Amino acid sequence: MAANPISWFFSMYELDFSRIVPAHIQAFEVYYPSKPDKELMRLYGVDHLHRLNNNENALGPPPEVTGVMSDFQPKTVPVYPNGDCFDLREILSKKFDKDPGQFLVGNGSCEVIASVIKAFCEKGDNIITADKTFAVYEWVAEFSGFEARLIPLKDNAFDPKAMLDAMDRRTKIMFVCNPNNPTGTYWDKDTMTGFLDAVDNRAVVVIDEAYREYVEEEDFPDGMALMDQYPNVVTFRTFSKMYALASLRIGYLCSTPEIVEMIRRTHVVYSVNTLAQRAAFAALSNDGSFIRETRKMVGQAKVLLCSLFDELDLTYVCNQGNYLMVKVPISDTLMYRKLMTRGIMVRTMTGFRFPNWIRISLVQQPVMEEFCKIFGRIIKELPSSRIQV
Ligand SMILES: *Cc1c(COP(=O)(O)O)cnc(C)c1O
Repeated sequence: MAANPISWFFSMYELDFSRIVPAHIQAFEVYYPSKPDKELMRLYGVDHLHRLNNNENALGPPPEVTGVMSDFQPKTVPVYPNGDCFDLREILSKKFDKDPGQFLVGNGSCEVIASVIKAFCEKGDNIITADKTFAVYEWVAEFSGFEARLIPLKDNAFDPKAMLDAMDRRTKIMFVCNPNNPTGTYWDKDTMTGFLDAVDNRAVVVIDEAYREYVEEEDFPDGMALMDQYPNVVTFRTFSKMYALASLRIGYLCSTPEIVEMIRRTHVVYSVNTLAQRAAFAALSNDGSFIRETRKMVGQAKVLLCSLFDELDLTYVCNQGNYLMVKVPISDTLMYRKLMTRGIMVRTMTGFRFPNWIRISLVQQPVMEEFCKIFGRIIKELPSSRIQV
């Protein structure tokens, strides 16, 4: 006991973080999301901001959602939502020819990532994914105390052989982002089934299809169909990207009834609010014209931006999805700041382990033209000594 009664008094109330916080949490770095648009506009002295940083669908949501939003009554607010998205799972089961029990809906698909990891991993287990992909798989594994084995991309794509080589008895989940955020590459049907054959039910394989509605390629595999043949497949989908419901936070997983029943045990119910459930339901009733229109917008934007990057002789990666990446001849944070002072927000990619690359969401033509004008001017005004060839 401390000799000084006053210091003893205070030490009694001192929180000993080294004792109460697990080592893997102490070592984990906090991720700070960007500031609100209003605050950013004030900081950068601009009166508008084009958000090209989060792969949002600037066209959305589908028109069917508008009525649901305006009909939402204050008297609905005090009532809890349906706890497990009954109606939405019903309509999903019809759309995909599955049982309603094969769906688990979450507060964004980010929430179902956590539920899957909790359901299958215990101390000493690991998950396998890529080093340059959506970071939430890695984050949830690590702050939950599990090892995340990050396999380097090969030619900007997930490397099936290296992932299989990294597997051991303690590997519980393999996360495959198809198509990959941020590179847009995908495994075709043969690559996917070859991988699933080799995994041979030794681990759960999550296929994250957050951007699948943007893909038009014939050889793109459908995770929903694969699970009939491979009982270890879990497919993730979201309403945040194509359906443009990002602010409502709603996404889901689909798997066999047995796997979903396991994951449900770890999933906190009532996490999906009533408005999100209704909006998602309405979004699914669109006849497909909204998806076609969005794909057209994205296609036009790709042509425009890629021709600019060719003209400027910059390296870029443009594949599937409503985004592309370009390597800039200055630091990505400096490029971010230069674009922000002109009202354009992009994603810096150093955090994704692509130092000095930026990722750009693909939106309407007028905004893309403005981006091209501003970005082209910034590149051309750089002192030539800064450009590393
Ligand atoms: C945006 C995104 C998600 C979706 O996250 P939500 O939580 O549903 O908004 C999932 N996976 C990938 C790869 C994404 O880019």
